Amino acid sequence: AEEAMALRKSYKSNVTGEDIPLPIGSFEDLITRFQFDKRLLNNLIENHFTEPTPIQSEGIPLALNNRDIVACAPTGSGKTLAFLIPLLQLIISDGKDSNGLKGLIISPTKELANQIFIECSKLAQKVFLDRKRPLQVALLSKSLNAKLKNKAVSDKKYDILVTTPLRLIDVVKNEALDLSGVKHIIFDEADKLFDKTFVEQTDDILSSCNNPKLRKSMFSATIPSNVEEIANSIMMDPVRVIIGHKDA
Ligand code: ADP
Ligand code: MG
Repeated sequence: AEEAMALRKSYKSNVTGEDIPLPIGSFEDLITRFQFDKRLLNNLIENHFTEPTPIQSEGIPLALNNRDIVACAPTGSGKTLAFLIPLLQLIISDGKDSNGLKGLIISPTKELANQIFIECSKLAQKVFLDRKRPLQVALLSKSLNAKLKNKAVSDKKYDILVTTPLRLIDVVKNEALDLSGVKHIIFDEADKLFDKTFVEQTDDILSSCNNPKLRKSMFSATIPSNVEEIANSIMMDPVRVIIGHKDA
């Protein structure tokens, strides 16, 4: 515990909420503390992710404890992996017998959605939910959107989907994608997703994710106070993680 406090102090993090787990000092800690998938750890190392960044040290154990999270960390600090690593692990550890979409990552732009998809695909390489079924990640592109609508591809095929709000709403409205099995929703660049331009779409998406056990998280470089208010109203005992200074 002392080490953890020293770690927190060294990167000026501020973590508030109830029952906060200790941060990880290395990715290997995940093997001993959580039943972390060896293949996933291997993929991290193969992609030269050897040490967790501060937002990853704090955020990964929280997510693995199935907590709702509001995370604020500077641009370039590794927020993408901070939400992808636990998302993949949580899906691996209970995904064996459930078909269909379980993880949803919402991004305000197509470019960012594409980057998240690429990063997620690297980590999901050769990861299997059981012996026969590889974990499936997709970007909700224009063509996938069309294929889902004309049933050229089953909406049960994917475990994780990365998307912008409008494209997701479009398939959902057309009853081409069922969100009722979604257990984890992540809002990346949440400050944008909850501002005036997007907030209605974001609400729409949240109301379609009707699984009562839905875990929600928000990641952003800045969390304006109105976004924090929304977070508190839609989340269950959220933990707030702030790395560096909160320059609101
Ligand atoms: P943010 O979303 O916080 O702006 P990103 O998730 O885009 O930051 O990460 C910024 C860069 O840091 C990316 O190139 C990513 O691959 C790299 N990165 C993330 N985590 C690590 C890590 N643990 N070790 C080395 N590089 C990392
Ligand atoms: Mg980012």
